[in-house]
Amino acid sequence: MSKFIYFASQLIMKNLFLTFALMAVCLFSLAFPAKEASINVLSYDISLTVNPSTKLISGANNISFLVLKPGDICVFKLAPNLKLISIDNNISFQRIQERILVNLPQNVSKGDTLSFKFVYEGTPQVAKNAPWDGGFVWQQDSSGNPWVGMACEGIGAHSWLPCKDTWDDEPSSVTLRLTVPKGLIGVSNGRLVQTEQKENTSTFTWQTNNPINHYNIAINVGKYALIKDFYINEKGDTLSLDFYVLKDNYSKAKTHFQQSKRMLKAFEHFFGKYPFYEDGYKLVETPYWGMEHQSCVAYGNNYENNSFGFDFIIIHESGHEWFANSITAQDKADMWLHESFTTYSESLFVEYYFGKSRAIQYLLNQKAKIKNELPMIGKYGTHHQFTDNDIYYKGAWMLHTLRGMIDNDTLWFNTLRDLNKKYYHQIITTKEVEQFLSERTRMKLAPFFEQYLRTSNLPVLEYYITKKNELNELHYRLQSSVKGLEMPILVTLAKDKFDFITAGDNWKIIDLPYEDVSNFRAEESKFLVQTKLISPKK
Ligand SMILES: [Zn+2]
Repeated sequence: MSKFIYFASQLIMKNLFLTFALMAVCLFSLAFPAKEASINVLSYDISLTVNPSTKLISGANNISFLVLKPGDICVFKLAPNLKLISIDNNISFQRIQERILVNLPQNVSKGDTLSFKFVYEGTPQVAKNAPWDGGFVWQQDSSGNPWVGMACEGIGAHSWLPCKDTWDDEPSSVTLRLTVPKGLIGVSNGRLVQTEQKENTSTFTWQTNNPINHYNIAINVGKYALIKDFYINEKGDTLSLDFYVLKDNYSKAKTHFQQSKRMLKAFEHFFGKYPFYEDGYKLVETPYWGMEHQSCVAYGNNYENNSFGFDFIIIHESGHEWFANSITAQDKADMWLHESFTTYSESLFVEYYFGKSRAIQYLLNQKAKIKNELPMIGKYGTHHQFTDNDIYYKGAWMLHTLRGMIDNDTLWFNTLRDLNKKYYHQIITTKEVEQFLSERTRMKLAPFFEQYLRTSNLPVLEYYITKKNELNELHYRLQSSVKGLEMPILVTLAKDKFDFITAGDNWKIIDLPYEDVSNFRAEESKFLVQTKLISPKK
């Protein structure tokens, strides 16, 4: 056999093997879509050119990763409408819809670090209704300058970037070199470490030195003005605040964005130190409502305050720095971990500055929006798309109810702080949080979370009142589909005075000392339960 034939046959065998291996993996990955852990992402080094006039993007992502399973095939993702030009030195790959299947080289071992550079280009999906559906937003400011934003929590970062794009793995650092037409500014996460001017373009290099979830990697382009400010916390730590706003809004923003200091003061009080001091804090004006982009919060709420006197978008999206960006859910099905805590944080902001009764008013406004139609936990492994807002409002009320059940604010607030300490910069599951809260509060909370997160119904406090020797007797129980659910609930045991009862599966009886019982009720400003008068049981 000549050397050439030998070499050719080896090549054919190798390709055949690769093809079969890829086919096997495709079938396998179709059957088990969530299994992608042959690698662990370490860092992304992204170069991206954004061209507003053609709506084209082009660039590369150099992905460094740790090998977990040598000999395995690793899966990356890129939207099928974007062209993958190459991976490094002609590493062969196969694309199946949004998946890019790459064979790990033969000679690597577990624990080795590799990097693949993905070169790509194309026209990314345009958002119809950002940030809800996701994609690029190509707009112009009032002077006709290009103004570009991007949000991708729903559709995923692979809509614009070749990456691993799962919620259960995050790069520990990201460098993003954003090239934009001259005169515009490109803004992304972390710190601006370099600016390069060429004849027609400017390149802004941003560096994030903390773990960041994929949908948080941000692209903003505009004729921005920069407002530089800082915040010093009670321990004397200085946090840089950079506000990138449209030139027209410079003076408005300078006043309005002072709110971010009030936000930081309140949230550091409740949840502990802002989780990304090294990367700074930024607000960037975007042509869509808002998004929690880590250390680069997207702001597009027209500088409007709500009736409580604060800008909901600044407070909510920044609250996500603690719940979503520092503490991240492992699977999108557990997104309540992001939205429930953050929505609840809004009422804590109100409590901090305007007092408890205003906070209750704020919460009651949220309560009116609860639907109770779908469970708050979605389908695991499916990148679940939520179709209602219960993970926001009902989730906030689940936490508020838990505070009512614990009835010890010192313990409750210490628990919130410790939750942030324990899971600082970590990826977690609902189960872990359930367990943590049960341990900390010394309550058996599994049935409680089962009820509120995994069923759509509220528990019903069923009651009726009978007379015995001139005294009113209250008969009550908690009706629910979850076995073993038991909740301490505040009710009117005396006239205009609330006291705790503990309601569970079984009927219980207690005396009511007051005569007029027509107004018997559970404390609705503290508990999300249904109260129902039923006919007396014989
Ligand atoms: Zn949110």
